[in-house]
Formats: sequence, structure tokens, C-alpha cells
Amino acid sequence: MAPFKKILIANRGEIALRILRACQAMDIRTVAAHSTVDRNLKHVGMADESVCIGPPPAAESYLNVPGLIAAMEVTDAEAVHPGYGFLAENADFAERVEESGFVFVGPRAETIRLMGDKVSAIHAMRQAGVPCVPGSNGPLDDDERRSLRLAGDIRYPVLIKAAAGGGGRGMRVVEQADDLLRAISLTRQEARSAFGDDTVYMEKYLSNPRHIEVQVLADAHGNAIHLGERDCSMQRRHQKVIEEAPAPGITDKQRERIGRICTDACKRIGYLGAGTFEFLYENGEFYFIEMNTRIQVEHPVTECVTGVDLIREQIRIAAGEPLRLRQEDVRISGHAVECRINAEDPEKFLPRPGQVEAFHAPGGPGIRVDSHIYDGYSIPPNYDSMIGKLIAHAESRSAAIARMRVALDEMVLRGVVSNLPLHQRLMTDSGFVRGGSNIHYLEKLLGLQ
Ligand code: ADP
Repeated sequence: MAPFKKILIANRGEIALRILRACQAMDIRTVAAHSTVDRNLKHVGMADESVCIGPPPAAESYLNVPGLIAAMEVTDAEAVHPGYGFLAENADFAERVEESGFVFVGPRAETIRLMGDKVSAIHAMRQAGVPCVPGSNGPLDDDERRSLRLAGDIRYPVLIKAAAGGGGRGMRVVEQADDLLRAISLTRQEARSAFGDDTVYMEKYLSNPRHIEVQVLADAHGNAIHLGERDCSMQRRHQKVIEEAPAPGITDKQRERIGRICTDACKRIGYLGAGTFEFLYENGEFYFIEMNTRIQVEHPVTECVTGVDLIREQIRIAAGEPLRLRQEDVRISGHAVECRINAEDPEKFLPRPGQVEAFHAPGGPGIRVDSHIYDGYSIPPNYDSMIGKLIAHAESRSAAIARMRVALDEMVLRGVVSNLPLHQRLMTDSGFVRGGSNIHYLEKLLGLQ
């Protein structure tokens, strides 16, 4: 029997379509909540019902909490899937949903709140035995001498980070003591205006780390499993461009050890649903930086190598069902690579919305395309520039890259400019092909550092 009769999808674009597909395969009816400009989105046309929740600006539509709750009421939806971005990590929204008698597909509001503040997240993780970056172990106060002493102990360079930061914003590297106090006050100011919270903390700035993250699933019955790791080191401005699973060079033993640390932490904090522990990885050591309490853009690479449908599991867990898999049932098979396709200027990386004249998706063994675009689709300027994801899976990393190369060449996208040329270049780039590059690699390659 289906875990829910009807789910409201509170998102747009490729992830809304991904959620819709999972619901349909589970015999769950769907409601697409969309803005006026998104009437022609693919999932809106495919959903059983749709509700327009407001004008194009996200603040008035996809972030419109009363509108979304009302949409659930009028359509008799039982649960809401928030996707990623928008309200996915908004504890107040999760709370309002539950108070209104609906189910939020995600962790409990208090967990979202705990992890949404990086200072409290790091504190909770330290207590749960998760290795963290050496740092201030709490917010910085106004005691300048204390901050200077702290940075001296941690040793420069250090990083000043906003507790409420996200999306790669609210961080500042400090190379020497002379610059420390000014950097703290600047980051505070920025954090106050961007996030409405000027709490900042200090971390050692790791010079050449890789970004490696662990996918977990935890149910309401005290079970938690991990589904291995992803390497997301190919970044530009702290934004991921390519992701892959498993991470090159990580041994089974390392995977088991860090995975176990994450599942133990999940049990300890009563985590519920799908989640990601993000780590920096340097000289063979993992350092926790933050936890994402939602499904992530890059979840398909994990789905490919484990065969687990993460959205389906999120929905089952939200309905109170126990995990079907035990840790020993999780097997990593082959290798998967994902390219994020953005409608953006290939040189300046600025979003370039427009109308898709023609789109032909590539195919063949091991190729998956998660995209909502179609011929004639108009990309609105109001949202993220990502128009889809191309995922290649094969028995080995080199075979997955070879399939990706063919798929990128096969894909036809006319009418809009995109970062396809960048992906084509990276698939033959010696550093990427070698594997295991650090988080600075792409910017250096592009001459941005
Ligand atoms: P956000 O929530 O904004 O994504 P994160 O804490 O996840 O912020 O950090 C984003 C990125 O910033 C990381 O993937 C990494 O590239 C870089 N970063 C964060 N903390 C450190 C650190 N201590 N040392 C070096 N780089 C860091």
C-alpha cells in the first residue's frame, strides 16, 4: 500500500519532477504548487492537481508558507516534499506543517534548527564523536585578545564563518594577525545583513582539502544506515559543478569508519530521513563542516552506485515505515559522475535565461538525465540557473567518464547558452581524469585564483 495518498510538491524545476516521478511510481497522487511564471513546468502538467501559490519572486511563492499550507488544505494533501533550497531547511516551515496536521518529508523541526546553525551543529557533532575542523568551538565574543589568542593557537590561515551562512556566503580567510579583528567585524556585518544573525565562529582554514560528503538515511525506529560518500571537490565559488560517487581513493575501510561515525551521530541526535554530513578531507583525515538536512542536488550519483531510490526512502520514512535495508545490504557498485547543466554564460558564469529552441536528451546504457526542460520551454530569470543534471554510471570511473563524454557530445541544447563546453573540457582534463583533485582545482584551471 502507498505510504501516503497525496503529496504536495513545494518546489520547481528538475527536483520537483524527480519527486513527482517517485510519487507516481509509488501510486501517490501529486499536487504541484507553482508560481505564475512556472505554469508550464513539466511536472505541473504531469501532476494530478496544481495550485498557483503566487507571483514569480520566490518570497511570494515558493517561500509563501501560508499559501503552501492553504494549498495542502484545499487539496487534502497529507504530506509536503520540500525538495532542496526554498523551504527545505526552514525549521519554522516544518513546524507549521506539522502543527497544521500534515507531514513534512524531512527531519524534525528541532533537528533542522540544530543543524541550520553551524555553531550548534558543530557542537552537537563534536559531542557525538564526529571529527571537526580545529576551531573556536563556539561563537566568537567581543573579547579581541581572546580571538587573537585563539587564532594564534589554531595557527593562520584561519577562516571566519557565519553561523547562519549558506550557499558559500559568509566566510572570510585571514592570513595574519593584523587582519583578524577587521575580518571578524566585516563578516559579522555581512552576516547580519544577509542572514539576520551576526554570530560568527573561527575555523582552521585547510589549504588543500577535498570536499567529501556522506549520505545517510535514518528512520523513526532508531535505525540509521549510510550509503557511502560523494566527492564534490569540483567547485567554483564554493558551488559544486561536478560530483561523483564513490570518492576516488577512499578505501572500504575508510568508508566504513566515517560512515559508522555518521550513523552513530544520527542515532544520537534522533535524526530522521535523508541527510548529508559534509566533510573536508585532507591528509587522510575527515573534518566535519556542516550537515544538510534535505535531499541534495547530487543525490543521483549515490542512487546509481547503490540502487537505492532516495526520494522513495524519504517518503517511506516520513510515513513512519522502518528502513528496509540494513547496513550490510548496502553495496557500492561501479562509479557515477554528475554534471550540473546551468543556463549561464560559459565565460562569466552569469545566469542567462531564455527560450530553449531545441533539446535532445542523450541516452544509452548508464545515462540518466534529470531535467525539466523541453523544446520551447522558457527559462525564467527568477530562479536558479540549473536546468538539469546529466549522470553517467558504469563499472569503473574511467568508463563512467567515457560515457559522460559521449552523452555531453550527444546532447542538443539550442537557444540558450550553457556550461556544456566547460563539462566537455573537464571530461578530458588530465587533473579531473586522474581524480582526487582538491576544492581549488577548478578555479585554478579557470584562472580565477
Ligand atoms: P555553505 O553552507 O555556505 O555551503 P560550508 O561550510 O559547507 O558552507 O562550506 C562551503 C565550502 O567552503 C566547502 O565546500 C569548502 O570549499 C569551503 N570551506 C569551508 N570551510 C572551510 C575550511 N575550514 N577550510 C577550507 N575551506 C573551507
